[in-house]
Amino acid sequence: MSKEDSLNFIEHIIENDLQQGYSKEDLRFRFPPEPNGYLHIGHASSICLNFGLGEKYNAPVNLRFDDTNPAKEEQEFVDAIKRDIEWLGFSWAEERYASDYFQQLYDWAVEFIKNDKAYVDSQSSDEIARQKGSPNEAGIESPYRNRPVEESLELFEKMKNGEVEEGQHVLRAKIDMASGNMLMRDPVMYRVLHKHHHRTNTDWKIFPMYDWTHGESDYIEQVSHSFCTLEFLPHRELYDWFLDQVYEINKLRPKQREFARRNLSHTVVSKRKLARLVEEGVVSGWDDPRMPTISGLRRRGYTPESIRNFADSIGVGKRENLIDVSHLEFNVREDLNKKATRVMAVLDPVKLILTNYPEGKTEMLEAENNPEDESAGSREIPFSGVLYIEREDFKEEANRKFFRLTLGKEVRLKNAYIIQGESVVKDDDGNITEIHCTYDPESRSGSGTEASMRKVKGTLHWVSAKHALPIEVRLYDRLFSDPAPDTHKDKDFMEFLNPNSLEVITAYGEPGLRNLETEDKVQFQRIGYFTVDRDSTKDKMVFNRTVPLRDSWAKLDKA
Ligand code: ATP
Ligand code: MG
Repeated sequence: MSKEDSLNFIEHIIENDLQQGYSKEDLRFRFPPEPNGYLHIGHASSICLNFGLGEKYNAPVNLRFDDTNPAKEEQEFVDAIKRDIEWLGFSWAEERYASDYFQQLYDWAVEFIKNDKAYVDSQSSDEIARQKGSPNEAGIESPYRNRPVEESLELFEKMKNGEVEEGQHVLRAKIDMASGNMLMRDPVMYRVLHKHHHRTNTDWKIFPMYDWTHGESDYIEQVSHSFCTLEFLPHRELYDWFLDQVYEINKLRPKQREFARRNLSHTVVSKRKLARLVEEGVVSGWDDPRMPTISGLRRRGYTPESIRNFADSIGVGKRENLIDVSHLEFNVREDLNKKATRVMAVLDPVKLILTNYPEGKTEMLEAENNPEDESAGSREIPFSGVLYIEREDFKEEANRKFFRLTLGKEVRLKNAYIIQGESVVKDDDGNITEIHCTYDPESRSGSGTEASMRKVKGTLHWVSAKHALPIEVRLYDRLFSDPAPDTHKDKDFMEFLNPNSLEVITAYGEPGLRNLETEDKVQFQRIGYFTVDRDSTKDKMVFNRTVPLRDSWAKLDKA
């Protein structure tokens, strides 16, 4: 593949501009979140795109908060967004806020009025909407469109000074009520809002609209390429029109270019919808491990690398599509396989007694921490004659395909001995309460004896009953059982919630688990990857299941 072929279409745009006379020093990008919620996995694509370009071209990338809607924005969200971007491993050149530019935007707007490019409209928003027309039919000009400049200036000043009620007047750009692009039909530039803003407090009573703010902010910061998602394609004409009015020669003129939004299956990626899950108490908060937010994924046990690799592997495109969540899970398994310490824990325990093991004896056995990483070393785990194994790992009788424990057959206990099933003890209801086995003392793993080299079909994980640490395990699953819950006509996405997205159990882990710290990552052997939750205390460790070792939905989805 030549260098040309391996570029994505965004890089082609930049390379083309470099050939057409831009210098590398001109390149500057930004990531522009609105602080009205936590970042989600869709934002990760935009972050990796913009900061990735910054790394590739050694160009600055600003973090710009698009904070023009005081009703929905909060400092908590600003802090969370910064924390998440840093955690992903990116650093911004400058931290900027659209609200830093309110004065400049206002001054420009006054110039617009003076130049007959804007006017104060005193109609209600409903009336304005009714006059917009349709794509095939021109809109109707407002009766205020040609009010005297002096009058607009005076009213705009009053709006700014808080002498006007919300909804009484707006400032509109004077463009073209017959434009084929509905967005060009005298768009609103300012509305009156008597709300507290998280940065400007009550200084401003008028707030600029997105279209009027975004391009001008890009221009002020001299951003060369302003990448946004495809729904802004029709806004590009307006972006350019506004720039035309303020552009000064010799300055760099920003370009808006669009790429496709990334959607993930079995969830919703929209801050507004995620906010509903939080507000209605469906999840415990924005960082609930079932949330597709960066902080939810982090708490679930995802690593920054797994999220970056995921974003890079889906890349940027021109068409919207739905990425299956199994692709995200693949990336975290791949990364944790390299990093997670292997430990043993039994989630659904049944007692196993070694009838020929010396009573009261405990021995320490050596276990490798990670076969994928030699430098991870090894540890010692206690072994004794009374153990727990997984209930599903035993059947009294089984066919030849069952490679786990049955009566009369041999299996290996991981890092320990070969055992053979002898008998069971049951309660009055016929449930097995104890499995009695014998062990072969010569067969200890790693002892090098002939008996230890013996081939047996299955290997089971276990914990020593008297040494086992009771732990809380939170088994998380997909939050929605439908692949695209928010695409059904006439049905609310909340109808598709998976009622079994969280199961909390008590399990038994090897005793060393008590020394782990929040966000440490382990593989419970034969089960899955788990991470220590921040709810853990010295007396009770809490583990979140990041992902099972195998994709149990793959079969179901096909069935
Ligand atoms: P939401 O609907 O979740 O609030 P948004 O687009 O309104 O999303 P912003 O905070 O305005 O959220 O987005 C910041 C940047 O992230 C924008 O450039 C936006 O286009 C991009 N972005 C948001 N969602 C996605 C997504 N699903 N895939 C790719 N980029 C996205
Ligand atoms: Mg938004």
